[in-house]
Amino acid sequence: MKTDICIVGAGPAGIFTALEYIRRGGKQKIVLVEKGRAIEQRACPKHQTGRCMNCKPNCHITTGFSGAGAFSDGKLSLSYEVGGDLPTLIGENTAQDLIDYTDGIYLEFGADTHIEGLENTEEVKAIRKRAIQAGLKLVDCPIRHLGTEKAQELYYAIEQYLLENGVEILFNTECETLLLDNENGRCRGIVAADGKKETEIEASHTIIATGRRGADWLEKLCAEYSIAHQPGTVDIGVRVEVRSEVMETVNRALYESKLIGYPKPFKNKVRTFCQNPGGFVSQENYDNNLAVVNGHSYKELKSDNTNLAILCSHNFSVPFNQPIEYAQKVGELTNMLANGHILVQRFGDILDGKRTWQKELMRSNLRPTLPDAVAGDITAAMPYRAMINIINFIQAMDQVVPGFASYETLLYSPELKFYSNRIKMDDLFNTSVKGLHCLGDSSGWTRGLMMASVMGVRMGRILAEEE
Ligand SMILES: Cc1cc2nc3c(=O)[nH]c(=O)nc-3n(C[C@H](O)[C@H](O)[C@H](O)COP(=O)(O)OP(=O)(O)OC[C@H]3O[C@@H](n4cnc5c(N)ncnc54)[C@H](O)[C@@H]3O)c2cc1C
Repeated sequence: MKTDICIVGAGPAGIFTALEYIRRGGKQKIVLVEKGRAIEQRACPKHQTGRCMNCKPNCHITTGFSGAGAFSDGKLSLSYEVGGDLPTLIGENTAQDLIDYTDGIYLEFGADTHIEGLENTEEVKAIRKRAIQAGLKLVDCPIRHLGTEKAQELYYAIEQYLLENGVEILFNTECETLLLDNENGRCRGIVAADGKKETEIEASHTIIATGRRGADWLEKLCAEYSIAHQPGTVDIGVRVEVRSEVMETVNRALYESKLIGYPKPFKNKVRTFCQNPGGFVSQENYDNNLAVVNGHSYKELKSDNTNLAILCSHNFSVPFNQPIEYAQKVGELTNMLANGHILVQRFGDILDGKRTWQKELMRSNLRPTLPDAVAGDITAAMPYRAMINIINFIQAMDQVVPGFASYETLLYSPELKFYSNRIKMDDLFNTSVKGLHCLGDSSGWTRGLMMASVMGVRMGRILAEEE
């Protein structure tokens, strides 16, 4: 098969590349290869079964059209300070302009016009004051909240737009490897398989946008084809759940509080991430059977709780420089202690040095929204440094949000964010291999829906301008 542009991965980075290319009048043929299903065929069986069924060959939460975005609650972070390091590659002003433009596209496709966290009210000022007193930085970030159900409708409309405009989307088709011209070191496409046969797809431009789940695979390709890259950061942490009454002021004033601290004694960066007022803690399963915790919220269906992640960044240099492997081992050990599930422990039990028992969970005001999480001892698997960072950060958070460090506060583990293996590129997204571009979370430059979409928009423009 021959095409002009071959995009691997129909997550936000991949689909916004195609979308902006078309909007800019690009006329060349695009083939979009996606190992999951069309958005209308994605369904997580957990709604019926009440528990994760570990779907094979692919998890419906993270694969299929719109990638990990479709089943997320679609919180679009509208500040260049949030969502990854892309601004350091393309410039902060360019990044902000592209965010504003991309936000406009989301609005055109039906996003809610309301934006949370715009006002600098007396409440926000009071929160910032408490953050300063606790030694934490409050990052300003307006949020457009799509909601899981709305996000699916919106991405369905984009899927139809791409199909109507001639993009050929190959669903249930996995990219296995690249086609590389040995003579001039140029990438000339990919090899893909749909379970029955292998197909070579030749293209002038190959764009890899395979998301977090594709990060391991891309790392192997980097080694095999000498694609210049550098080990990046991996985040290890916990998902914290409290009653929404505790977070009420912050939820109302900011919807999402982005707080950063450098707690003693290690002074590593620790931050909050992905806050879900009235949300649900969820489980994701990676290809290698690793079960990790996440969180989301629905526009209509609300729980009594608020969850958010607390993450510690980890970098490695010499002699060990493989952060993904390190985080995987932490995850595997935690899964082992929970018999393949997510571990949950009360904060007070951690301070008391005891495990949590299942029956003890029922004694609290707080009921876990992930019922198949297993009560136990996350400190038995969490590295000492990360655990101390988390404990001290939670205690600092308690000064901003009184009650956050309560005995009953729940900590779920493992919460792992893999965005290491950063692909070296110039600001036109050229890798060290000609004809090959890497976008989105798998490139190591983004870590969120908006920033991944922005990277796609810029790629689409670059391709259209080349014509
Ligand atoms: C539960 C959950 C909630 C989230 N909530 C938010 C949120 O509220 N706000 C936010 O900003 N971010 C959120 N995120 C993160 C956000 O979804 C990602 O940052 C974003 O989707 C990254 O976009 P991407 O295009 O780089 O990759 P992805 O969205 O991961 O898409 C990559 C696509 O590539 C496909 N793929 C992978 N490997 C191959 C291959 N070899 N061949 C073919 N196809 C392949 C995958 O199936 C997938 O569809 C959430 C993530 C999850 C999992």
